[in-house]
Amino acid sequence: MQADLIFRNARLIDGTGSAAQTGDLAVSGVRIVAMGALPDWRGGREIDCGGQVLAPGFIDPHVHNDLAVLTDPGMDSVVSQGVTSIINGNCGFSIAPLRTGDALPDPMGMLFGKTPPVFARFADYRARLESEPPAVNSACLIGHGTLRVNEVGDLARAADAAETKAMAASLDQALSDGGIGLSTGPFYPPARASSTDELIAMARITQSHGRLYVTHMRDEGDRVIEALEETLEIGRSACCGVHVSHHKCAGLANFGMSETTLGMIDRARTEQTVGLDTTPWTASSTMLNSGRHRQASKVLIAESLPHPECAGRDLAEIAAEWGTDIDTALERLLPATGIFFIMDEADVQRILSYEHTMICSDGIAGGSHPHPRVWGTFSRVLGHYVRDVGLFTLEEAVRRMTSLPADWFGLDGRGRLEVGAFADLVLFDPDTIREGATYQTPVRPALGIQCVFVNGREVWNGQGATGNRPGSFLIGA
Ligand code: ZN
Repeated sequence: MQADLIFRNARLIDGTGSAAQTGDLAVSGVRIVAMGALPDWRGGREIDCGGQVLAPGFIDPHVHNDLAVLTDPGMDSVVSQGVTSIINGNCGFSIAPLRTGDALPDPMGMLFGKTPPVFARFADYRARLESEPPAVNSACLIGHGTLRVNEVGDLARAADAAETKAMAASLDQALSDGGIGLSTGPFYPPARASSTDELIAMARITQSHGRLYVTHMRDEGDRVIEALEETLEIGRSACCGVHVSHHKCAGLANFGMSETTLGMIDRARTEQTVGLDTTPWTASSTMLNSGRHRQASKVLIAESLPHPECAGRDLAEIAAEWGTDIDTALERLLPATGIFFIMDEADVQRILSYEHTMICSDGIAGGSHPHPRVWGTFSRVLGHYVRDVGLFTLEEAVRRMTSLPADWFGLDGRGRLEVGAFADLVLFDPDTIREGATYQTPVRPALGIQCVFVNGREVWNGQGATGNRPGSFLIGA
């Protein structure tokens, strides 16, 4: 029997949570064609895994690489940690459908640049990625904030009936064109004035396509309980599955609150469809003027357009150097993004440990001093939280990074090692895997990743990127 590629002597972790099995795995074309003991098979290329772990490529359900997949198609920060599929368009902001690239309100301006490519129809964005694929598979949610920018005359108020109708029609079209679901971000200024009814109207359209309502909730700090109640109400009213993005309880006053929020999610799950993801870090990252600095024990500047030299520096130190108070320094740095030390380690571990939690990076590729989550999220879970802390087993960690998000978002043929599945694969050493990125030096690949394959083609090896661009555009099932 002949295959293009055979992995020999691997510790196969299939993504379902089942215990690892030692064996071989054969790939032909884009798919896995055989697994187990394969002594009679020959491969065009054979890789001796030496007992290291071969797993399905990881799926990152929450990133902001809508633009980066076009401008930085190698996606090194993604593939270098074993991620083979990403979901873009989160927090209410998708790069398509967008009618104009002029004067986008923040954070869209920061996410998509000063002059983003304009894809008036979602189908145009999809066509571009299908003709110029990046290294990773990507899917994209349709952002409610983007729809508001297109249709709502004044972003400081809720949409009126005509505007809601126009957004609904646009969402309906975009989901028909391959959008994988809806994302909302009532936390952010472009959508802060949206009413719960407006969000329910969007969720109804999403439900009619059998898709999910994915949300950066209105509040993740002092009013996280009310925000979660609103999210659950939207799901019930629209009969739509809801997904809480990068779940956290931010601010010293809210440390420990995840006991309550996870209890609410657990109870809600008995009568409605609810999921969540989270990042394995106690610092968050968002717009510098989000108000988060008042709840944070420390703030680092990730990026500042007027003061790029401040990237990576402590906001309090910058203020002291400039002889100003914190708020004045913050204003001078805008537009900017910050890294906010704002969460309790016990909450991070409790949310990570919750059996339905997926792992996400919330990353944006690029920038000189990003949050280390951009390069280090998945390796940090496998190294720090699995091996060093013992939060859960390796098999369980891999499940949360593979079959769980694949099934939840309808990414057929992804997230499992099984015959017939797409050959999205990562080979890693469980004894040495860990993040290379730190808050001080955030642009560093993960350690312990041997090689990464997307649709049967190698995109990352021990030395670095291979230059292959085999990523498919995923529209879900
Ligand atoms: Zn967000």
